[in-house]
Amino acid sequence: MKYDVVIVGGGIVGSSAAYFLKKQGFTGSIALIERDTSYAKGCTARSCGGIRQQFSTPENIKLSRFGLNILRHLKEEFGPEADVSFREYGYLILASENGRTILEENHSVQIANGADNVLLDPEGLARQFPWLVTDGLALGCFGKSGEGWLDPYSLMSLFRKAAVAKGVALIQGEVASVRKVAGKAASLTLADGQEIICGSIVNAGGAGAGALARMAGIDLPVGPRKRYVYVLDCPGASEALHKAPLTVDISGIYFRPEGQQFICGLSPEEADEPREMDWEVDYGWFEERIWERLAARVPAFEAIKVVNAWVGHYDYNALDQNAVIGPHPELSNFLFANGFSGHGLQQGPGAGNAIAELILHGSYRTIDLARFGFERIASKTPLFERNVI
Ligand SMILES: Cc1cc2nc3c(=O)[nH]c(=O)nc-3n(C[C@H](O)[C@H](O)[C@H](O)COP(=O)(O)OP(=O)(O)OC[C@H]3O[C@@H](n4cnc5c(N)ncnc54)[C@H](O)[C@@H]3O)c2cc1C
Repeated sequence: MKYDVVIVGGGIVGSSAAYFLKKQGFTGSIALIERDTSYAKGCTARSCGGIRQQFSTPENIKLSRFGLNILRHLKEEFGPEADVSFREYGYLILASENGRTILEENHSVQIANGADNVLLDPEGLARQFPWLVTDGLALGCFGKSGEGWLDPYSLMSLFRKAAVAKGVALIQGEVASVRKVAGKAASLTLADGQEIICGSIVNAGGAGAGALARMAGIDLPVGPRKRYVYVLDCPGASEALHKAPLTVDISGIYFRPEGQQFICGLSPEEADEPREMDWEVDYGWFEERIWERLAARVPAFEAIKVVNAWVGHYDYNALDQNAVIGPHPELSNFLFANGFSGHGLQQGPGAGNAIAELILHGSYRTIDLARFGFERIASKTPLFERNVI
């Protein structure tokens, strides 16, 4: 088999890269290779589906705004039946006195890049969010529009199905090795021994991106980080709390409504990162680290029950928690779209579009993502994102 472009990974990033390549007029052949066509354990299906503009890096804001534009024009893009249950309830990121300056600086960057966010002092927070205890808070940043959450699986499926309808070949298989010839990626071999000759390879392997890069002899610091999401029943929640934004407390805990229930989580400090990348939920993490702080910030959460929980693996870039997008400087037909570190659902469409531009034109046309290139990985020069949730 031979394809001009082989995209490895059929999650939101790979599917949207395939879709935008076709949409932008790429006439060559494209294969989308996915080892698990249930998509059940990929990052995308396990994500919380959030979209925000509350980042500190302009590129991240622009990528998310690209995703927002897709949501705003979903039916034009994918047809009248397209629906991803977008709930535009906003994000609310809280800061203590210590975090005030950073929140203000981030807010300025966001406004300069088109976000519709507002800073609220404790009185403003109490007025707008009566369910919130404002003790210890100096400021909050609230997204008035363009932020919220959606069904991630539906968005991914829309891109994948539309890509396949435009002629992209979906191949079930696990890439096991990459063969290089004369400084180029020449072919991939699947676990069943099948060889696929390729013009270029796009690494859209999510949490498996580091392993895939290693097959081409490339050291990419992207790998899985285990995260827990808990589903809560809160019988005493007010109507206002059921309309709450995704709220990020100063303790790092986040929560948001999910239908008639709520979901919440907390990313661990580096020293507390789980070692095993399995799918076991740690309920002790909720009891010991989350529940008390959650109830202190929102008293209605004193009477809650964990009714469900799931594990997902972040596609974590250990260097700086920002995406790596673009070609490898030497192996130039091997392109990365990796390391989104917990914000790749909303950025998948923008990243896919960017990959399509690079393959078609050799340069970015919509968003300049040069700073997200592999060069900073090679030189170990981090470009830190401050708002990683
Ligand atoms: C708990 C959790 C919450 C999150 N919340 C949010 C959020 O609120 N907002 C947000 O924007 N992002 C969120 N994210 C992050 C987001 O889900 C990811 O950044 C995004 O889905 C990455 O998309 P992807 O297509 O790169 O990865 P994936 O969806 O994981 O797709 C990669 C695919 O590659 C396949 N693959 C890998 N290696 C190979 C191989 N060798 N051969 C064949 N196939 C291979 C995998 O099977 C997988 O299906 C969250 C993630 C988690 C885990």
